[in-house]
Amino acid sequence: MPPSLHDLTFDQVTRLLTEEGLRPAHAKTLWNTLQYRSMTDPLARPDLAPPLRRWLEQALSGGAWTLDTPAVTSDVPSSDGLTRKALLKLTDAQEIETVIMGYEGRHTACISTQAGCAMGCVFCATGQMGFVRHLRPGEIVAQVHHARRVLADEGKHLRNLVFMGMGEPLHNYDAVMTALDIITHTSGINIGPSKVSISTVGVVPGIRRLAEEGRPYNLAVSLHAASDEERGAIVPANAKWPLAELLDACREYNARTGRRIFFAWTLIAGVNDSPEHARRVAALLHGLDAHVNLIPLNRTPGYAGEESADEAADEFHRILQSAGFPCTIRQRRGIDVAAGCGQLRAEKQRSRAGRTAAGASSALLPA
Ligand code: SAH
Ligand code: SF4
Repeated sequence: MPPSLHDLTFDQVTRLLTEEGLRPAHAKTLWNTLQYRSMTDPLARPDLAPPLRRWLEQALSGGAWTLDTPAVTSDVPSSDGLTRKALLKLTDAQEIETVIMGYEGRHTACISTQAGCAMGCVFCATGQMGFVRHLRPGEIVAQVHHARRVLADEGKHLRNLVFMGMGEPLHNYDAVMTALDIITHTSGINIGPSKVSISTVGVVPGIRRLAEEGRPYNLAVSLHAASDEERGAIVPANAKWPLAELLDACREYNARTGRRIFFAWTLIAGVNDSPEHARRVAALLHGLDAHVNLIPLNRTPGYAGEESADEAADEFHRILQSAGFPCTIRQRRGIDVAAGCGQLRAEKQRSRAGRTAAGASSALLPA
């Protein structure tokens, strides 16, 4: 499959076009059209300079390049109007989901990085479907363009991104970082790097690479348990990167970047939500610059666990705070469209299984 022009960073577009004998100004026009104006087809611009138009026509018809980009096949708002979930169909017919969340005038898009996920966390609908393939940079960026268009139609502005949709971002490291180079470029989408959060299940080499490269994004690490035995039972990736190694990488990240890490803890009734668990996580994170995000479990078809009672979540929260850790319980959102953490792809599986989304809860944003 030829590469898509949507996969290229500003520097790559400039290099390509100047190598092909075009001027840097042509590269700027192409970049502006694709990344600032969010247009999928630059040939639709009547004012395109003739040399750039000729080059594009040739490159596309000769098969050297494509303008392949995902098509939005549905976009459903939740009943409270604060969350919407879009389904994007990739050129090979794979489907991914992008969630747009509104919260006190702040708009955040939750971006997918893979079709499916290889990590197999037992409580996660994406993990339950298995790994299909990595997304290309342009397929990641297209989700941001979609969110931007939807919000622009409502006179709103997209400012925040969380890489917490389908897939494990650090398992698709290069494509995610290229996508972020595109997304944060100041003459394109121009989202501030400090408004970007990357969530990982704990891919240790990826965390170390982020620390080494000093990339200015926020890091979230999905912890969910404070012993290898308990974590291994719900997060299979723990066998490859056990807690001692993970926390070592986190310490290195803190030290090298000076950045706080946001640890996610999905609260599952009777599994990891006791006061003893809260004390153990406080002991485990001792000495780290850490914030803990508590996420009440969202139900998924392939896992029998249930969300913790509010009292258990409140007590967990209290213990962590009194141990000196900033701690938040995420708000519940998007219940009726299965747009909550870990629910992506759940809807289809549910309808296949003949079940309904009733009773599912959703939690996306820090309180
Ligand atoms: N793969 C990355 C990012 C995507 S998952 C990661 O695991 O961090 C985003 C967040 O949703 C993670 O913190 C994950 O643990 C959480 N999550 C997954 N399934 C969930 C569920 N059913 N209920 C609540 N949170 C869930
Ligand atoms: Fe993959 Fe994250 Fe889901 Fe685990 S929680 S299966 S890492 S998407």
